Amino acid sequence: MSDPILSVEGLGVNYGRVEAVRNVSFEVPEGALVTLVGANGAGKTSVLNAVSGLLRPRQGVITFEGNDITKWPAHRLVKAGLVQVPEGREILGTLTVAENLSLGGWHRKNSTLHAKVSEVYERFPVLFERRKLHAGALSGGEQQMLSIARALIAEPKVLLLDEPSMGLAPKIVDEVFAVIEEIRLTGTTVVLVEQNARRALAAADYGYVLETGEVSHFGPAHELLADEKVIEAYLGLD
Ligand code: ATP
Repeated sequence: MSDPILSVEGLGVNYGRVEAVRNVSFEVPEGALVTLVGANGAGKTSVLNAVSGLLRPRQGVITFEGNDITKWPAHRLVKAGLVQVPEGREILGTLTVAENLSLGGWHRKNSTLHAKVSEVYERFPVLFERRKLHAGALSGGEQQMLSIARALIAEPKVLLLDEPSMGLAPKIVDEVFAVIEEIRLTGTTVVLVEQNARRALAAADYGYVLETGEVSHFGPAHELLADEKVIEAYLGLD
């Protein structure tokens, strides 16, 4: 097998004395959709934030395209193609939809930015329709689409998605998962953090289950979906 585009080895994250993540390792093959699932507080966001440079891990090595990126700041990682869609969307409600999208291309020349924004509008016609509105006026689902679209402006090689289905109605969750599927069909590698384990595993190639800061199970996603222990512990309730 060729080298993974992204790999995490022995990751540890602390908040002061709280050990949130312990010895987490995973690999993301190029073009794959890998999901990290687990209960609230299991450490999924901490892992993702360490990968995207938003927090500095206590231990471990993160490798992206063969480079040790463990100490790279977030803005350098975005330029290199590792882009995160944060938990809770983090769109700027008082700016327009168009302005929010432009922020996704802060590091681009104006000409390339315009071309990229047009491309994104073709993919998300509702954002084109609402481009002059304040982003705060959008529905939750539209805001999630905006947050994903903003990340796409940066042309990620690896897109890191943190709980994109959070707080959305089932029909809108379907739409979000359809968009994720489309993104990976364009060849973009996706790392998806989700509490909605059944849904995420159904969409993924590989899955890692996090339990109190550690990986408890991992493997091909369809095998995890068929694993009685995983179902009992994480999938039984939905
Ligand atoms: P969620 O679904 O709530 O986002 P998660 O699986 O993403 O959960 P994390 O947010 O990574 O989990 O949290 C892992 C652990 O670290 C939890 O015990 C949490 O309380 C703790 N934690 C997270 N952020 C902080 C922080 N800023 N300060 C202190 N403890 C934190």
